[in-house]
Amino acid sequence: MEDILNLVGGDLVPATGNTWIDVHEPSTGKVYARLADSDARDVEAAVQAAEAAFPAWVAMGREGRSNVLLRLAALIEKDLEGFAEAESRDNGKPVHLARKVDIPRAVANFRFFATAILHFSTEAHVMDDVAVNYTDRSPIGVVGCISPWNLPLYLFTWKIAPALAAGNCVVAKPSEVTPMTAYRMARLCAEAGMPPGVLNIVHGLGPKVGTAITEHPAVKAISFTGGTRTGQEIARVAAPLFKKMSLELGGKNPVVIFADCDLEQALRTTVLSSFRNQGQICLCGSRILVERPLYERFRDAFVQRVKALRVGDPRDAASDLGAVVSEGHMEKVLSYIDLAREEGGRVLCGGKRVQLDGELQGGWYIAPTVIEGLGPACRTNQEEIFGPVVTIAPFDTEQDALSAANGTPYGLAAVLWTSDVKRAHRMAHQLESGIVWVNCWMIRDLRTPFGGMKQSGVGREGGVEALRFFTEAKNVCIKL
Ligand code: NDP
Repeated sequence: MEDILNLVGGDLVPATGNTWIDVHEPSTGKVYARLADSDARDVEAAVQAAEAAFPAWVAMGREGRSNVLLRLAALIEKDLEGFAEAESRDNGKPVHLARKVDIPRAVANFRFFATAILHFSTEAHVMDDVAVNYTDRSPIGVVGCISPWNLPLYLFTWKIAPALAAGNCVVAKPSEVTPMTAYRMARLCAEAGMPPGVLNIVHGLGPKVGTAITEHPAVKAISFTGGTRTGQEIARVAAPLFKKMSLELGGKNPVVIFADCDLEQALRTTVLSSFRNQGQICLCGSRILVERPLYERFRDAFVQRVKALRVGDPRDAASDLGAVVSEGHMEKVLSYIDLAREEGGRVLCGGKRVQLDGELQGGWYIAPTVIEGLGPACRTNQEEIFGPVVTIAPFDTEQDALSAANGTPYGLAAVLWTSDVKRAHRMAHQLESGIVWVNCWMIRDLRTPFGGMKQSGVGREGGVEALRFFTEAKNVCIKL
């Protein structure tokens, strides 16, 4: 059984208290590794290491830092298969998904920000015959990055890459549920030429390690991705300390399908946007709204395709869905299916746990589930389920679709299917959502602003938004 250690000051070390947390394999439900159960003492050591490393990391300059990140990207890419297998084993996702999406994207995150920093420029504001202002942007110092379990290395690197490229030193905490690939990456840092203390990874529980990072006075900014309730808790602690905060939170994303759409494309993509990664992507569409003339045809074809999806061993190339991430999460998702029934929903397919054979019989599998007959205001359509469960409902007018789509506390992503360009513009403008995909889903250009409105978050990641977040802006005004 492997021990997952912290990375502090360049050393791989157990937690100071020498206590451990079990790490489970979702496909079997069995413990397969143990994780350093760290506390505030480990965070303190990490912050001190980061503070000590900061001047030299800044002095390396953009090119020096860029080269380190590019080398780290190359080392991850060289071990792509090992990383993909580790991610699949730790999270329960199909290995083909980790191989195609998670790990290549982690590599891309490093490459993108390693090169973006070379092109990052600041503004100048010239006042005719009076003065010239320019914006000086410096790294903030020590920053905290806290990430969730659904896309473990993908979202972990999405935060630490811009933070490091901009010249900060990082104290990071991956989810305690899926720590393995962050550890695998930590083992490559020295070979990539990362100076000790520049990146510190402290494993453990949110309320212990996450809170210690959030409340540490030397940690000047917090970049967090996770649930809305955790985001509220982080804001409660960090706001009175006047820390910079970027919060990427939950979603309850609508998929609005008009009768004039390309039906085949809409069907194929909506199966993916509903059930990819077992529905555990913050950008998954969970409320499908279909214009009434197309409703029955779409629903029947959709359910037929969903019934054909294979839930199985994550290592099997033929599995469309693997296991959900934990027993607790499986119970939560199943309880929402029960709630949907109580609220009067009809389960069109799925609706239950899937029990596989042999060594997989203790694994946490849920059949992809489609529910009909629920109004927009019920809890099933208001609360984030974050699993392989979607609702489907008809709508009559564009206004009805808009009201239903906007009618939750969330505002992360929305998907629109229509061949009417004017309607696409009109709807996209009115949707209360940080991201709108028209006739597609999950196409990601890393230069674009990424984040949510309302209770889906504060701030934007991606491109220059991330580099601005991880730098402190100062206006310098020089009289002419
Ligand atoms: P959580 O909010 O439970 O946890 C996220 C991270 O925060 C974990 O590392 C967790 O540690 C840590 N944490 C927990 N409590 C605290 C605390 N008090 N202070 C500081 N850190 C803490 O989210 P999940 O891991 O369950 O991830 C699923 C959620 O993430 C969903 O709501 C999903 O929508 C959202 N998400 C949002 C995305 C976006 O871009 N907007 C993208 C992906 C997911 P621990 O694991 O030990 O609890």
